[in-house]
Amino acid sequence: MRVVIIFPHVGYCTGWRPHLATEVKNGSTYHIAQALTYLYSIARHYTPDAWVVDFNFGTYEENMRRVLDHRPDAVLISSTVNSYDSTRQIALDMSRRSPAKLFVGGPAVSSNHFLRPDLLKLEADCEFVVTNRDIFAWAKQVFGRADDLKFRTFRPDNSWIGETYAPEVRDKIRYTVVTSIGCTYKCTFCLNPMVYKINYKDPEILRDEVRYLQTEYGADAVSVADPFFFMRQQHADEMMDVLSEAGIAWSQQTCLVTLTDENLDRMAETGCHSVLVGIENFTSKEINKPVEVESFEDRLQYAAARGISIKPSFISGLLDIDYEADLGQIDYIRSIISRGLVPNYHIQSNIYTPYIPDARDRLLDIPFRFWGVMPVTAQDEDHWKRNLHLCDMIYESVFPETAQRYQEVRAEYLDILDRQETMWLSHRPVPPVPPEKRIHLLTSGKVRV
Ligand code: SF4
Repeated sequence: MRVVIIFPHVGYCTGWRPHLATEVKNGSTYHIAQALTYLYSIARHYTPDAWVVDFNFGTYEENMRRVLDHRPDAVLISSTVNSYDSTRQIALDMSRRSPAKLFVGGPAVSSNHFLRPDLLKLEADCEFVVTNRDIFAWAKQVFGRADDLKFRTFRPDNSWIGETYAPEVRDKIRYTVVTSIGCTYKCTFCLNPMVYKINYKDPEILRDEVRYLQTEYGADAVSVADPFFFMRQQHADEMMDVLSEAGIAWSQQTCLVTLTDENLDRMAETGCHSVLVGIENFTSKEINKPVEVESFEDRLQYAAARGISIKPSFISGLLDIDYEADLGQIDYIRSIISRGLVPNYHIQSNIYTPYIPDARDRLLDIPFRFWGVMPVTAQDEDHWKRNLHLCDMIYESVFPETAQRYQEVRAEYLDILDRQETMWLSHRPVPPVPPEKRIHLLTSGKVRV
């Protein structure tokens, strides 16, 4: 079987850190998507004829030509919510230009398929693939077989990188690995615990993967894309040993409470130069992990003394937070910049985006390319104006270098809303789900619209 895997264009939200850009500027912050490494490796387990086409580089038509030239029997689109506009366009075009069978999966599908399926409608025949419980679920649907593959021992095949990206592109992108998936915390707005079942990689697998990236592509740094690197201490210790042996610089993301003296010391010894930490919001109950101002600032200093940058990520507009509290948080972000604690290009500051179906959201009828960048949900028009103002403050006062690009994206967003009869998206209501049953019910398919 001939298989082409497509990574659609991610819209205005790069989805990678730092979260400054409102457009994908090739190479500036582009991390290789682990979804592609896994999807390609799964495909290669079943067929020698598999290719990847990334629509974030080159023109749309060049990429479409590349897909068609492979004469695929099956086309697999791995879509985030932000890239779903591009997914729609590619799916429609493929259905007109190729007899290939179409499969669409990824976080957009896993998070919406059961509770907000109206958002996923396509004008093309396709089979949706839900991978909440098993990232290898593609295999059964695409190849009609499901060998007993396990994340822990499955060997990722990174040869697709050399075939997909030209050397001048590879010079700018960041190599990634993932050593664990899922998250033991359950923040209500976050996809990670919902769409990935917790799993840990065998150290031997990571050792070979890193060696391959070093010898094949000359990688001198790798970004560890685990949602929560120190989720299990023993696993993290083993992974740090592997990275240290490989002599490769690395970065990661974790929770504030796991940045203990011991872990920061070991990170420094093993070549870790930066860590993304989700601070989110100091007062919201939507956050399931402990975050405090004092320990954040204390850890910043301890890490800096060891040559490690802590890159904090904040979120405004959470459903249980009022406008005044959000203004206070944006002031705090400005203060850490003005006090010289963190440069603004190390900060992610996002507006709440309803990636997880939640009965409390009221969605705006706006293309997916704006998700993660502009307000996408509000209770009413006044609330929407307040959310828009928060967004303006974030881009203009925290990231002034993006102000011009932000104004262009903002004008396009307002123009789209202006031309519609109503600003609200109509879809079947999301059933209310009790917080303690959220993960199970959102992803199991036992409750559907
Ligand atoms: S701790 Fe981080 S990865 Fe885990 S659920 Fe919360 S925001 Fe998501």
